[in-house]
Amino acid sequence: MKNTFQSFVFGCRVNEAERIKMDKQLVEAGYSVDLASPSFLIINSCAITGKAEREAKQLIYQLRKKHPESKIVLTGCSATVWSKYNTAETKLVDILVPNDKKSNLVDLLSTNDEPLADASSAEAVGDKFRYSNRLLVKIQDGCHRFCTYCIVPYLRGLPQSQKIADIVSYINSFLPIPSEVILNAINTESFGTDTGETLVNLIKQVIKETKVPRIAFGSIHPWSLTNEFINYMRSTLAGEKRFVQFLHIPVQSGSPTVLKYMRREYDINKIEKSINEIQKIQPNTLLATDVIVGFLGETEELFEETYSFLERSPISRLHVFRFSNRAHTAAFYLKKQLIEPSPQEKKKRSERLIELSRKKYQKFIENQIGRTVQALVIAKGKQGMKVLLDNQVEGILIDKECLPGDLVHVTIIAAKDGLVVCKES
Ligand code: SF4
Repeated sequence: MKNTFQSFVFGCRVNEAERIKMDKQLVEAGYSVDLASPSFLIINSCAITGKAEREAKQLIYQLRKKHPESKIVLTGCSATVWSKYNTAETKLVDILVPNDKKSNLVDLLSTNDEPLADASSAEAVGDKFRYSNRLLVKIQDGCHRFCTYCIVPYLRGLPQSQKIADIVSYINSFLPIPSEVILNAINTESFGTDTGETLVNLIKQVIKETKVPRIAFGSIHPWSLTNEFINYMRSTLAGEKRFVQFLHIPVQSGSPTVLKYMRREYDINKIEKSINEIQKIQPNTLLATDVIVGFLGETEELFEETYSFLERSPISRLHVFRFSNRAHTAAFYLKKQLIEPSPQEKKKRSERLIELSRKKYQKFIENQIGRTVQALVIAKGKQGMKVLLDNQVEGILIDKECLPGDLVHVTIIAAKDGLVVCKES
């Protein structure tokens, strides 16, 4: 039991990347994963909505009941909100580690630790986070944008980038070589502004200095669609077989007025041009986005602006969120000036966008039929192996047994129910 841990994560891919790094640091410091009776239960939490905080609380209650002897360690954004506002929830856990102390987690645990004991019976951590041999890496933290609905800049502070050399050596420290690396940032726009480096140079170096066969981004934020990035896409990335042709660009709205209320200061017409350009450069790029419906001041007419932007755009996959006003954000105070759509209006708008997404995605995957590409096996499913194509489109590989993490050449033969069906080629 001593010197062992189990970790949990909520929220975004940056959180997941942080969890992977914390697990690795703990293992290197002599801890082992123990799912039966760990000495520490570590939760990397989210606080983007009130619901995310409630989920963290529920997990704490469940874990307390299941493992009364273990110490509960809460880190991440809920830990930061609770500690910053000194809420009653701080008493729920044994160790509270706000985001600015997270990098010292291993040291913080060892001061709470008991003498080292033999933990050889505990499960090795490696298999746990590398099940499909995909590695999530955090390249940047913090944000300077302060979008009105978002609490993240208050919890993660101003931008801080990892140095390219450190990112490369972190990736190279994983053996066997990951089948895919996914680069994640809170805001890619800020990558390198504090270190004098650029996103384009990061991709160049990861391609050159690592042997990872698939290199992907979690998200590329709209401000990152610079001329430099688009020119690099045109000259190199579009033909680079190791670059996963998937760009998740969270636009949040297609209405200039709503974007102004959200304080997302970009020209949506320019973003639209850039997205169209990317689609022309590499038509098989899967373009995805996040959209918030029912933001303060979003009238029916303004929602229609978003709808028609998304309808005509080559973006094929929409992640739709209904706005819920979050305490401690600027929007919380804006509600005095701007009318919030009703829950029924939000529901209707969200359903329309989900249906639009379903149709657009189906069309996109039908256009994949006939392509022969390299796919990554991520798990075994009931109908075959679950795979991701070279653009993160999900599929089923039939008539072939393989292991998660394998790379296989496949031909896409059909597209149904949001999945492509492939055969080994
Ligand atoms: S860009 Fe906006 S939504 Fe994204 S983390 Fe920064 S403030 Fe939040």
